Amino acid sequence: MAYVISDSCVACGTCQGVCPTGAISEGDIYKIDPDVCIDCGTCADACPTGAIAPGE
Ligand code: SF4
Repeated sequence: MAYVISDSCVACGTCQGVCPTGAISEGDIYKIDPDVCIDCGTCADACPTGAIAPGE
């Protein structure tokens, strides 16, 4: 189960800078590669808009 980024994302890039595995890529909103995410939660803690949460 990987973390996912919702459309509350404002594309600030904060999460990309803190992810230890490089799972996050840039776009209109940022995106997490579920095959690379290790579920650490670092990005969710860092996100200023609370856009990142564990996937279901
Ligand atoms: Fe990266 Fe951890 Fe966020 Fe997964 S949960 S995208 S490994 S910072």
